[in-house]
Amino acid sequence: MATRSTAHTALAALREDLVGDVFAPGDPGYDEARAVFNALTDRRPAVIAQCANAADVVRAVRFARDLDLHIAVRGGGHGLVGARIDGALVVDLRRMHGVTVDPAAEAVRVEGGATTGHLDRATQPYGLATPGARAPSTGVGGFVLGGGTGWLDRVFGPAVDNLLGVELVTADAERVHANADENPELFWALHGGGGNFGVATALTLELHELPEFSVALLRGRPEFGPDAVRAFREIVRAGPDEVGGAVMYLAADGVLCGTLLTYAGGEAGLRRLAGPLLALPHEAEVVGTLPYADVQCLLEPLSGLRDHWSAECLTDLPDELVDLLAARADSMPASNGSQHVIFPLGGAIAAGPREYPVSYRDASWLVHPFACWADPADDERAPAWVRDACAEVRPWSTGAVCLDLIGDEGPERVRAGLGAGNLLRLEKVKRRWDPDNVFRFNHNIEPV
Ligand SMILES: Cc1cc2nc3c(=O)[nH]c(=O)nc-3n(C[C@H](O)[C@H](O)[C@H](O)COP(=O)(O)OP(=O)(O)OC[C@H]3O[C@@H](n4cnc5c(N)ncnc54)[C@H](O)[C@@H]3O)c2cc1C
Repeated sequence: MATRSTAHTALAALREDLVGDVFAPGDPGYDEARAVFNALTDRRPAVIAQCANAADVVRAVRFARDLDLHIAVRGGGHGLVGARIDGALVVDLRRMHGVTVDPAAEAVRVEGGATTGHLDRATQPYGLATPGARAPSTGVGGFVLGGGTGWLDRVFGPAVDNLLGVELVTADAERVHANADENPELFWALHGGGGNFGVATALTLELHELPEFSVALLRGRPEFGPDAVRAFREIVRAGPDEVGGAVMYLAADGVLCGTLLTYAGGEAGLRRLAGPLLALPHEAEVVGTLPYADVQCLLEPLSGLRDHWSAECLTDLPDELVDLLAARADSMPASNGSQHVIFPLGGAIAAGPREYPVSYRDASWLVHPFACWADPADDERAPAWVRDACAEVRPWSTGAVCLDLIGDEGPERVRAGLGAGNLLRLEKVKRRWDPDNVFRFNHNIEPV
């Protein structure tokens, strides 16, 4: 344990050495620097190192190791997991958001703190895209390494299937590359094992041609929700992998039912598929071709509210379940932005490689209750709504978990998310790269 004066000297040296900024309790800017998307996450880290480049990350990790501090990583700040980081060092990557597109190689290099919006805006002008989260402010690093899902997964596979390489600063403050040729076992573990193995200062992702992207977005009354879900379900079941989207019950001055049918193609093709949905009663619609990067902004929730969310991966979406989802949406916490969402999986997700530590490939649907609220008086009621929404769909659960879409729900859920058969292998990778478990504020894998 470092003495107070050693810690003081080390902090002064860190401030001196970093190109980026350093914040400690009492510093102007500390409170702003520690704020994240979810107002419920009130963390008080010992030090926040806002790194400007990979050398800063190395320096910050070295500082933490010298002082025996655990290390939390902040990318987009959207994570629900590992929030209890009081006393830790935060490696804050948000300044590192450069994106370099290589259209000839159909690849993009994304710095560790870039958001989905940074990524999509950079690739859009080339008519290229890669699967990302469904909100522009979500961090690419947290999303990809955690095995997240997005609008393009049914066509191009989930983000982990598109990961070509990772530049990592390890727990020993060393810079390593992980790709199919260099450190392949570490590379495998980064396909779903999240921030367990180090700080990703950059990720390289495969790009795909996406010259056109079309959507049918319908706003309807909640009583027509079950009809919309059934129509959407049949379109997805019969349609090509290019079809995706979601049906969501959404709190927006009352509950509404929004249906977003996405199509990786032109408007004519979309309209041919969307007929049964467009025939249902609805209050407003937008149908047409939109830049993919703009579609990504359609569901961006408000930052600064209190949030809780979870998800269940389902075998099927029978009518009985469709009715249950509608009834549960009725009791949704009333703050605008709360959602009860149904996403289709399948397509290229199911067809993708089996060996990575993501477990949801065999699920057909994913249900994602997401509660937002402003009043601390709802701190028990709103998360309870999320838990109840998950509990009632569990009879249809595949048992798999999409870890990016859950918070701290215990080791069994982490195991289910990584795939039970992968855990020992991941624990060995953890022992090799982070034997002291300094990167523990995540869906934690303990070193064996
Ligand atoms: C509004 C919103 C929309 C979302 N949409 C989707 C969605 O469509 N699909 C989906 O699957 N998930 C979605 N999520 C969940 C999101 O993917 C996860 O919470 C993800 O972990 C967020 O990453 P982040 O970098 O933004 O968050 P952070 O809180 O900064 O990071 C979360 C964790 O990821 C790790 N991490 C982040 N960056 C790095 C890095 N560069 N190197 C190493 N580790 C890192 C760390 O362990 C960190 O604790 C959404 C969340 C929100 C709040």
